[in-house]
Amino acid sequence: MKVKKGDNVYVIGGNYKGKIAKVLHVFPARNRLIVEGINMIKRHTRPTQKNPKGGVVIKEGTIHRSNVKVYCGSCKSPTRISFKMIESKGAASSKVRVCRMCGAEL
Ligand SMILES: [Zn+2]
Repeated sequence: MKVKKGDNVYVIGGNYKGKIAKVLHVFPARNRLIVEGINMIKRHTRPTQKNPKGGVVIKEGTIHRSNVKVYCGSCKSPTRISFKMIESKGAASSKVRVCRMCGAEL
């Protein structure tokens, strides 16, 4: 799964098409994400100590990762991710994610 928590993504499907928002949670096993402000659902809750009245809570539902693309802040467009190895002397080489369009690190 290339999308990570904290990434900005561009929504490509459904009611929220064209929106850019931040990933709040990633569920790699299910290929699903929670994205800030996207796919808001109403959930009816029972009263709890924290929320004695209960009632309706509006929160983000999950969306499938195929409905989003990573958004590159550098070239200001939805993009795909490539990986680049960074070699450094005396240290383990590390893999960074780069924008396939402009090469900026994501
Ligand atoms: Zn880019």
